[in-house]
Amino acid sequence: MHFKKFLRRAAAFVTVCALNTGIIMSYSPIGAEDLTVDEIKDKISQIQEENAARREEIERIDGDISEQKENLEKVNALLGEQKQLVDYYNNLVYYKKQDITEVEGKIADLELDIDELDSQIKTAEKDIEELEAQNADNLEKFAQIIRTMYTTGNTDMFGVLAGSTDFYQLMVSSEVIGNITEKNLEFMNALKKDIEKLSSDKKQLETDKANLQASVEKLDSEKQTLLDEQTELEGLLYDSASAADSYKQDYDKYQSAIDSLENQQSDLSYLISVSEADIDAYEEQIKEIIKQQTNPDKVYQEGDWIWPVPGRSYISCYFGWDYELGRWHKGVDIGDAGIYGDYIRASKAGTVIVAESSYIPGYSYGMYVVVDHGGGYTSTYAHMSAVNVYVGQEVAQGDVLGCVGNTGYSTGPHLHFEIRLNGEPQDPFGYVEIA
Ligand SMILES: [Zn+2]
Repeated sequence: MHFKKFLRRAAAFVTVCALNTGIIMSYSPIGAEDLTVDEIKDKISQIQEENAARREEIERIDGDISEQKENLEKVNALLGEQKQLVDYYNNLVYYKKQDITEVEGKIADLELDIDELDSQIKTAEKDIEELEAQNADNLEKFAQIIRTMYTTGNTDMFGVLAGSTDFYQLMVSSEVIGNITEKNLEFMNALKKDIEKLSSDKKQLETDKANLQASVEKLDSEKQTLLDEQTELEGLLYDSASAADSYKQDYDKYQSAIDSLENQQSDLSYLISVSEADIDAYEEQIKEIIKQQTNPDKVYQEGDWIWPVPGRSYISCYFGWDYELGRWHKGVDIGDAGIYGDYIRASKAGTVIVAESSYIPGYSYGMYVVVDHGGGYTSTYAHMSAVNVYVGQEVAQGDVLGCVGNTGYSTGPHLHFEIRLNGEPQDPFGYVEIA
Protein backbone atom coordinates (compact mmCIF):
# COMPACT_ATOMS: atom_id res chain seq x y z
CA MET A 1 0.00 0.00 0.00
CA HIS A 2 1.22 3.49 -0.80
CA PHE A 3 2.09 5.56 2.23
CA LYS A 4 -0.21 8.40 1.20
CA LYS A 5 -3.05 6.00 0.69
CA PHE A 6 -2.41 4.57 4.11
CA LEU A 7 -2.55 8.06 5.61
CA ARG A 8 -5.82 8.78 3.85
CA ARG A 9 -7.28 5.61 5.19
CA ALA A 10 -5.96 6.15 8.65
CA ALA A 11 -7.52 9.60 8.70
CA ALA A 12 -10.82 8.24 7.54
CA PHE A 13 -10.90 5.13 9.63
CA VAL A 14 -14.39 5.91 10.88
CA THR A 15 -15.79 5.56 7.42
CA VAL A 16 -13.84 2.53 6.31
CA CYS A 17 -16.30 0.41 4.46
CA ALA A 18 -16.43 -2.87 6.15
CA LEU A 19 -18.71 -4.51 3.65
CA ASN A 20 -17.96 -8.02 2.50
CA THR A 21 -15.19 -8.75 4.93
CA GLY A 22 -14.33 -11.82 6.88
CA ILE A 23 -12.98 -10.03 9.90
CA ILE A 24 -15.66 -11.26 12.27
CA MET A 25 -14.30 -14.76 12.48
CA SER A 26 -17.43 -16.64 13.37
CA TYR A 27 -19.29 -15.43 10.35
CA SER A 28 -18.47 -16.02 6.75
CA PRO A 29 -19.91 -12.72 5.69
CA ILE A 30 -22.06 -12.36 2.68
CA GLY A 31 -19.95 -11.76 -0.38
CA ALA A 32 -16.66 -12.29 1.41
CA GLU A 33 -15.68 -14.28 -1.61
CA ASP A 34 -17.04 -14.09 -5.10
CA LEU A 35 -18.91 -17.35 -5.03
CA THR A 36 -21.51 -18.69 -7.37
CA VAL A 37 -24.77 -19.98 -5.96
CA ASP A 38 -23.54 -23.57 -6.48
CA GLU A 39 -20.30 -22.86 -4.66
CA ILE A 40 -22.23 -21.35 -1.77
CA LYS A 41 -24.51 -24.38 -1.71
CA ASP A 42 -21.41 -26.61 -1.56
CA LYS A 43 -20.17 -24.59 1.38
CA ILE A 44 -23.50 -24.96 3.13
CA SER A 45 -23.50 -28.73 2.68
CA GLN A 46 -19.91 -28.88 3.86
CA ILE A 47 -20.91 -27.07 7.04
CA GLN A 48 -23.92 -29.36 7.41
CA GLU A 49 -21.64 -32.38 7.14
CA GLU A 50 -19.31 -30.93 9.75
CA ASN A 51 -22.28 -30.29 12.01
CA ALA A 52 -23.58 -33.82 11.49
CA ALA A 53 -20.14 -35.11 12.54
CA ARG A 54 -20.23 -32.79 15.54
CA ARG A 55 -23.70 -34.07 16.50
CA GLU A 56 -22.45 -37.64 16.23
CA GLU A 57 -19.52 -36.72 18.41
CA ILE A 58 -21.93 -35.17 20.94
CA GLU A 59 -23.92 -38.41 20.97
CA ARG A 60 -20.78 -40.49 21.37
CA ILE A 61 -19.77 -38.28 24.29
CA ASP A 62 -23.28 -38.80 25.71
CA GLY A 63 -22.39 -42.51 25.89
CA ASP A 64 -19.10 -41.73 27.63
CA ILE A 65 -20.94 -39.48 30.05
CA SER A 66 -23.49 -42.18 30.93
CA GLU A 67 -20.64 -44.60 31.50
CA GLN A 68 -18.86 -42.16 33.78
CA LYS A 69 -22.12 -41.39 35.54
CA GLU A 70 -22.63 -45.09 36.21
CA ASN A 71 -19.14 -45.24 37.67
CA LEU A 72 -19.92 -42.16 39.68
CA GLU A 73 -23.12 -43.66 41.06
CA LYS A 74 -21.41 -46.92 41.98
CA VAL A 75 -18.59 -45.19 43.75
CA ASN A 76 -21.08 -42.82 45.38
CA ALA A 77 -22.99 -45.80 46.81
CA LEU A 78 -19.74 -47.28 48.12
CA LEU A 79 -18.78 -43.91 49.52
CA GLY A 80 -22.17 -43.67 51.29
CA GLU A 81 -21.73 -47.13 52.84
CA GLN A 82 -18.22 -46.30 53.93
CA LYS A 83 -19.38 -43.04 55.47
CA GLN A 84 -22.00 -44.94 57.45
CA LEU A 85 -19.28 -47.27 58.65
CA VAL A 86 -17.17 -44.30 59.67
CA ASP A 87 -20.14 -42.92 61.63
CA TYR A 88 -20.73 -46.34 63.19
CA TYR A 89 -17.13 -46.70 64.38
CA ASN A 90 -17.07 -43.10 65.53
CA ASN A 91 -20.08 -43.86 67.72
CA LEU A 92 -18.51 -47.02 69.10
CA VAL A 93 -15.30 -45.15 69.93
CA TYR A 94 -17.38 -42.43 71.55
CA TYR A 95 -19.27 -44.89 73.76
CA LYS A 96 -16.08 -46.79 74.56
CA LYS A 97 -14.51 -43.54 75.73
CA GLN A 98 -17.57 -42.90 77.89
CA ASP A 99 -17.20 -46.39 79.42
CA ILE A 100 -13.55 -45.65 80.13
CA THR A 101 -14.44 -42.33 81.73
CA GLU A 102 -17.01 -44.11 83.89
CA VAL A 103 -14.47 -46.72 85.03
CA GLU A 104 -11.98 -43.96 85.70
CA GLY A 105 -14.62 -42.22 87.83
CA LYS A 106 -15.17 -45.40 89.81
CA ILE A 107 -11.42 -45.81 90.29
CA ALA A 108 -11.10 -42.20 91.44
CA ASP A 109 -13.98 -42.73 93.93
CA LEU A 110 -12.34 -45.86 95.30
CA GLU A 111 -9.02 -44.09 95.56
CA LEU A 112 -10.74 -41.37 97.57
CA ASP A 113 -12.21 -44.09 99.82
CA ILE A 114 -8.76 -45.63 100.17
CA ASP A 115 -7.32 -42.23 101.10
CA GLU A 116 -10.07 -41.87 103.69
CA LEU A 117 -9.25 -45.33 105.09
CA ASP A 118 -5.58 -44.45 105.10
CA SER A 119 -6.30 -41.38 107.16
CA GLN A 120 -8.52 -43.42 109.51
CA ILE A 121 -5.73 -45.98 109.85
CA LYS A 122 -3.29 -43.19 110.61
CA THR A 123 -5.65 -41.78 113.25
CA ALA A 124 -6.00 -45.22 114.81
CA GLU A 125 -2.24 -45.65 114.78
CA LYS A 126 -1.85 -42.28 116.43
CA ASP A 127 -4.47 -43.16 119.04
CA ILE A 128 -2.79 -46.47 119.74
CA GLU A 129 0.53 -44.70 120.03
CA GLU A 130 -0.97 -42.23 122.47
CA LEU A 131 -2.55 -44.96 124.57
CA GLU A 132 0.64 -46.94 124.56
CA ALA A 133 2.45 -43.80 125.73
CA GLN A 134 -0.08 -43.42 128.54
CA ASN A 135 0.39 -47.03 129.35
CA ALA A 136 4.13 -46.51 129.50
CA ASP A 137 3.56 -43.46 131.68
CA ASN A 138 1.45 -45.51 134.05
CA LEU A 139 4.00 -48.23 134.17
CA GLU A 140 6.56 -45.57 135.03
CA LYS A 141 4.32 -44.24 137.84
CA PHE A 142 3.89 -47.75 139.13
CA ALA A 143 7.62 -48.32 138.93
CA GLN A 144 8.13 -45.16 140.94
CA ILE A 145 5.91 -46.44 143.69
CA ILE A 146 7.86 -49.65 143.70
CA ARG A 147 11.08 -47.64 143.79
CA THR A 148 9.71 -45.53 146.65
CA MET A 149 8.93 -48.70 148.49
CA TYR A 150 12.50 -49.83 148.00
CA THR A 151 13.94 -46.49 149.15
CA THR A 152 11.91 -46.67 152.38
CA GLY A 153 13.55 -50.04 152.95
CA ASN A 154 10.49 -52.18 152.35
CA THR A 155 10.63 -54.62 149.52
CA ASP A 156 6.94 -55.28 149.25
CA MET A 157 3.67 -53.68 150.04
CA PHE A 158 3.27 -55.69 153.20
CA GLY A 159 6.66 -54.40 154.26
CA VAL A 160 5.53 -50.84 153.62
CA LEU A 161 2.49 -51.47 155.73
CA ALA A 162 4.44 -53.34 158.43
CA GLY A 163 7.09 -50.59 158.54
CA SER A 164 4.54 -47.96 159.41
CA THR A 165 5.32 -46.43 162.77
CA ASP A 166 1.97 -45.03 163.50
CA PHE A 167 -1.62 -45.61 162.57
CA TYR A 168 -1.88 -42.43 160.63
CA GLN A 169 1.20 -43.30 158.53
CA LEU A 170 -0.14 -46.78 158.08
CA MET A 171 -3.49 -45.42 157.10
CA VAL A 172 -1.98 -43.07 154.62
CA SER A 173 0.51 -45.53 153.24
CA SER A 174 -1.94 -48.37 152.79
CA GLU A 175 -4.57 -46.10 151.35
CA VAL A 176 -2.15 -44.42 148.99
CA ILE A 177 -0.60 -47.63 147.86
CA GLY A 178 -3.94 -49.33 147.57
CA ASN A 179 -5.45 -46.47 145.63
CA ILE A 180 -2.52 -46.09 143.38
CA THR A 181 -2.18 -49.73 142.57
CA GLU A 182 -5.86 -50.33 142.15
CA LYS A 183 -6.43 -47.25 140.01
CA ASN A 184 -3.35 -48.04 138.06
CA LEU A 185 -4.41 -51.55 137.39
CA GLU A 186 -7.89 -50.39 136.47
CA PHE A 187 -6.57 -47.73 134.23
CA MET A 188 -4.05 -50.00 132.64
CA ASN A 189 -6.67 -52.61 132.02
CA ALA A 190 -8.89 -50.01 130.35
CA LEU A 191 -5.98 -48.84 128.27
CA LYS A 192 -5.18 -52.38 127.27
CA LYS A 193 -8.78 -52.85 126.19
CA ASP A 194 -8.76 -49.59 124.23
CA ILE A 195 -5.52 -50.53 122.53
CA GLU A 196 -6.92 -53.92 121.65
CA LYS A 197 -10.09 -52.37 120.30
CA LEU A 198 -8.17 -49.84 118.27
CA SER A 199 -5.86 -52.52 116.93
CA SER A 200 -8.79 -54.61 115.88
CA ASP A 201 -10.41 -51.54 114.26
CA LYS A 202 -7.17 -50.80 112.47
CA LYS A 203 -6.99 -54.36 111.25
CA GLN A 204 -10.53 -54.06 109.93
CA LEU A 205 -9.60 -50.81 108.19
CA GLU A 206 -6.60 -52.48 106.61
CA THR A 207 -8.77 -55.36 105.41
CA ASP A 208 -11.21 -52.83 103.95
CA LYS A 209 -8.36 -51.04 102.27
CA ALA A 210 -7.02 -54.25 100.81
CA ASN A 211 -10.51 -55.05 99.48
CA LEU A 212 -10.75 -51.63 97.92
CA GLN A 213 -7.30 -52.01 96.40
CA ALA A 214 -8.40 -55.30 94.92
CA SER A 215 -11.44 -53.57 93.43
CA VAL A 216 -9.18 -50.86 91.99
CA GLU A 217 -6.98 -53.49 90.43
CA LYS A 218 -10.00 -55.16 88.93
CA LEU A 219 -11.24 -51.85 87.53
CA ASP A 220 -7.74 -51.07 86.22
CA SER A 221 -7.80 -54.30 84.33
CA GLU A 222 -11.32 -53.53 83.05
CA LYS A 223 -10.04 -50.12 81.93
CA GLN A 224 -7.13 -51.73 80.13
CA THR A 225 -9.53 -54.05 78.31
CA LEU A 226 -11.65 -51.06 77.31
CA LEU A 227 -8.56 -49.18 76.14
CA ASP A 228 -7.53 -52.16 74.03
CA GLU A 229 -11.02 -52.28 72.54
CA GLN A 230 -10.85 -48.55 71.86
CA THR A 231 -7.54 -48.96 70.06
CA GLU A 232 -9.03 -51.72 67.94
CA LEU A 233 -12.10 -49.62 67.10
CA GLU A 234 -9.89 -46.66 66.23
CA GLY A 235 -7.99 -48.92 63.86
CA LEU A 236 -11.25 -49.93 62.17
CA LEU A 237 -12.34 -46.29 62.10
CA TYR A 238 -9.06 -45.30 60.44
CA ASP A 239 -9.41 -48.07 57.85
CA SER A 240 -12.99 -47.10 56.97
CA ALA A 241 -12.08 -43.39 56.83
CA SER A 242 -9.18 -44.22 54.48
CA ALA A 243 -11.48 -46.28 52.30
CA ALA A 244 -14.00 -43.40 52.27
CA ASP A 245 -11.22 -41.00 51.24
CA SER A 246 -10.20 -43.26 48.43
CA TYR A 247 -13.82 -43.52 47.20
CA LYS A 248 -14.10 -39.75 47.44
CA GLN A 249 -11.05 -39.38 45.22
CA ASP A 250 -12.57 -41.77 42.69
CA TYR A 251 -15.80 -39.80 42.90
CA ASP A 252 -13.97 -36.53 42.18
CA LYS A 253 -12.12 -38.17 39.31
CA TYR A 254 -15.35 -39.35 37.66
CA GLN A 255 -17.00 -36.01 38.31
CA SER A 256 -14.18 -34.09 36.65
CA ALA A 257 -14.24 -36.53 33.73
CA ILE A 258 -17.96 -35.81 33.34
CA ASP A 259 -17.34 -32.06 33.57
CA SER A 260 -14.67 -32.30 30.92
CA LEU A 261 -16.91 -34.35 28.60
CA GLU A 262 -19.77 -31.90 29.09
CA ASN A 263 -17.40 -29.06 28.26
CA GLN A 264 -16.44 -30.85 25.06
CA GLN A 265 -20.11 -31.17 24.22
CA SER A 266 -20.83 -27.53 24.88
CA ASP A 267 -17.83 -26.54 22.74
CA LEU A 268 -19.25 -28.66 19.94
CA SER A 269 -22.73 -27.21 20.44
CA TYR A 270 -21.21 -23.75 20.29
CA LEU A 271 -19.47 -24.59 17.00
CA ILE A 272 -22.75 -25.96 15.65
CA SER A 273 -24.67 -22.83 16.57
CA VAL A 274 -21.96 -20.58 15.13
CA SER A 275 -21.80 -22.51 11.88
CA GLU A 276 -25.58 -22.57 11.68
CA ALA A 277 -25.35 -18.81 11.71
CA ASP A 278 -22.85 -19.18 8.85
CA ILE A 279 -25.41 -21.25 6.97
CA ASP A 280 -28.00 -18.51 7.53
CA ALA A 281 -25.53 -15.97 6.20
CA TYR A 282 -24.79 -18.11 3.12
CA GLU A 283 -28.49 -18.59 2.48
CA GLU A 284 -28.92 -14.85 2.75
CA GLN A 285 -26.08 -14.50 0.24
CA ILE A 286 -27.82 -16.84 -2.19
CA LYS A 287 -31.00 -14.77 -1.88
CA GLU A 288 -29.05 -11.61 -2.65
CA ILE A 289 -27.36 -13.11 -5.68
CA ILE A 290 -30.73 -14.29 -6.96
CA LYS A 291 -32.29 -10.88 -6.26
CA GLN A 292 -29.54 -9.09 -8.15
CA GLN A 293 -29.92 -11.12 -11.26
CA THR A 294 -30.53 -8.72 -14.08
CA ASN A 295 -33.06 -8.96 -16.84
CA PRO A 296 -31.07 -10.43 -19.75
CA ASP A 297 -33.42 -8.85 -22.28
CA LYS A 298 -32.91 -5.34 -20.97
CA VAL A 299 -30.93 -3.24 -23.42
CA TYR A 300 -28.00 -1.18 -22.16
CA GLN A 301 -28.73 2.52 -22.34
CA GLU A 302 -25.82 4.41 -23.79
CA GLY A 303 -24.64 7.60 -22.15
CA ASP A 304 -22.54 8.81 -19.22
CA TRP A 305 -22.81 7.66 -15.63
CA ILE A 306 -23.12 10.37 -12.98
CA TRP A 307 -21.62 10.69 -9.51
CA PRO A 308 -24.25 9.40 -7.03
CA VAL A 309 -23.62 12.03 -4.32
CA PRO A 310 -22.90 15.30 -6.13
CA GLY A 311 -20.52 17.58 -4.23
CA ARG A 312 -19.09 14.77 -2.14
CA SER A 313 -15.57 13.74 -3.07
CA TYR A 314 -13.83 12.11 -0.16
CA ILE A 315 -13.01 8.48 -0.98
CA SER A 316 -12.38 6.56 2.21
CA CYS A 317 -11.90 3.24 0.46
CA TYR A 318 -11.12 2.55 -3.20
CA PHE A 319 -12.13 -0.35 -5.39
CA GLY A 320 -9.67 -3.27 -5.32
CA TRP A 321 -7.73 -5.47 -2.97
CA ASP A 322 -7.71 -4.06 0.50
CA TYR A 323 -4.46 -5.14 2.14
CA GLU A 324 -5.53 -3.70 5.44
CA LEU A 325 -8.68 -5.78 5.71
CA GLY A 326 -7.37 -8.61 3.54
CA ARG A 327 -10.28 -8.76 1.10
CA TRP A 328 -11.54 -7.50 -2.22
CA HIS A 329 -13.41 -4.19 -2.00
CA LYS A 330 -16.14 -4.30 -4.60
CA GLY A 331 -16.94 -0.61 -4.84
CA VAL A 332 -15.87 2.81 -3.65
CA ASP A 333 -16.73 4.36 -0.30
CA ILE A 334 -17.68 8.02 -0.32
CA GLY A 335 -17.39 9.24 3.21
CA ASP A 336 -17.16 13.04 3.46
CA ALA A 337 -17.83 14.60 6.83
CA GLY A 338 -21.50 15.59 7.05
CA ILE A 339 -22.59 13.23 4.28
CA TYR A 340 -25.20 11.54 6.43
CA GLY A 341 -28.68 12.13 4.98
CA ASP A 342 -27.48 13.36 1.57
CA TYR A 343 -29.62 12.27 -1.38
CA ILE A 344 -28.31 9.33 -3.35
CA ARG A 345 -28.99 9.66 -7.06
CA ALA A 346 -29.27 6.96 -9.74
CA SER A 347 -25.96 6.98 -11.62
CA LYS A 348 -27.81 5.95 -14.75
CA ALA A 349 -31.42 5.28 -15.82
CA GLY A 350 -32.71 1.75 -15.19
CA THR A 351 -35.05 -0.59 -13.35
CA VAL A 352 -34.88 -1.03 -9.59
CA ILE A 353 -34.27 -4.76 -8.94
CA VAL A 354 -33.46 -4.50 -5.20
CA ALA A 355 -34.94 -1.99 -2.75
CA GLU A 356 -34.06 -3.47 0.63
CA SER A 357 -35.06 -1.48 3.65
CA SER A 358 -34.88 -4.25 6.23
CA TYR A 359 -31.47 -5.25 7.50
CA ILE A 360 -29.54 -6.77 10.38
CA PRO A 361 -27.53 -4.08 12.19
CA GLY A 362 -23.81 -4.74 11.89
CA TYR A 363 -24.09 -7.06 8.90
CA SER A 364 -23.85 -6.75 5.16
CA TYR A 365 -25.16 -3.92 3.00
CA GLY A 366 -27.78 -2.61 5.39
CA MET A 367 -30.51 -0.80 3.44
CA TYR A 368 -29.56 -0.88 -0.22
CA VAL A 369 -30.76 -0.42 -3.74
CA VAL A 370 -29.67 -2.13 -6.98
CA VAL A 371 -30.56 -0.70 -10.36
CA ASP A 372 -30.46 -2.79 -13.56
CA HIS A 373 -29.15 -0.62 -16.42
CA GLY A 374 -29.43 -3.29 -19.12
CA GLY A 375 -26.70 -5.15 -20.99
CA GLY A 376 -25.77 -6.90 -17.71
CA TYR A 377 -24.86 -3.62 -15.95
CA THR A 378 -26.04 -2.87 -12.42
CA SER A 379 -25.23 -0.22 -9.85
CA THR A 380 -25.50 -0.75 -6.10
CA TYR A 381 -25.98 1.86 -3.35
CA ALA A 382 -25.45 0.53 0.19
CA HIS A 383 -25.67 1.45 3.91
CA MET A 384 -28.56 3.86 3.19
CA SER A 385 -30.55 5.54 5.96
CA ALA A 386 -33.70 5.60 3.80
CA VAL A 387 -34.90 3.87 0.62
CA ASN A 388 -37.17 5.91 -1.66
CA VAL A 389 -37.83 3.43 -4.47
CA TYR A 390 -39.48 0.07 -4.97
CA VAL A 391 -38.61 -3.06 -6.93
CA GLY A 392 -39.70 -2.78 -10.55
CA GLN A 393 -39.65 1.01 -10.49
CA GLU A 394 -38.14 2.68 -13.54
CA VAL A 395 -35.74 5.42 -12.54
CA ALA A 396 -34.19 8.17 -14.59
CA GLN A 397 -30.56 9.20 -14.20
CA GLY A 398 -30.26 11.52 -11.16
CA ASP A 399 -33.49 10.33 -9.52
CA VAL A 400 -33.29 10.16 -5.74
CA LEU A 401 -33.03 6.50 -4.62
CA GLY A 402 -32.67 7.20 -0.91
CA CYS A 403 -30.35 8.82 1.62
CA VAL A 404 -26.80 8.22 2.81
CA GLY A 405 -26.68 6.31 6.10
CA ASN A 406 -24.71 3.99 8.31
CA THR A 407 -26.77 0.77 8.23
CA GLY A 408 -25.41 -2.76 7.97
CA TYR A 409 -21.72 -3.49 8.35
CA SER A 410 -20.49 0.08 8.42
CA THR A 411 -18.38 2.00 10.88
CA GLY A 412 -19.53 5.50 9.90
CA PRO A 413 -21.90 7.31 7.53
CA HIS A 414 -20.87 6.70 3.92
CA LEU A 415 -22.14 5.50 0.57
CA HIS A 416 -20.78 2.22 -0.74
CA PHE A 417 -21.19 2.48 -4.50
CA GLU A 418 -20.70 -0.43 -6.90
CA ILE A 419 -20.94 -0.93 -10.62
CA ARG A 420 -21.14 -4.54 -11.85
CA LEU A 421 -21.11 -6.15 -15.24
CA ASN A 422 -22.82 -9.59 -15.35
CA GLY A 423 -22.38 -9.76 -11.60
CA GLU A 424 -18.65 -8.95 -11.75
CA PRO A 425 -17.70 -5.86 -9.72
CA GLN A 426 -16.02 -3.14 -11.83
CA ASP A 427 -13.93 -0.20 -10.71
CA PRO A 428 -16.52 2.63 -10.69
CA PHE A 429 -13.83 5.12 -11.71
CA GLY A 430 -13.68 3.31 -15.05
CA TYR A 431 -17.19 4.71 -15.64
CA VAL A 432 -17.72 7.80 -13.59
CA GLU A 433 -15.85 10.84 -12.29
CA ILE A 434 -16.25 12.68 -9.00
CA ALA A 435 -18.54 15.65 -9.57
ZN1 LIG B 1 -17.51 -0.08 0.61
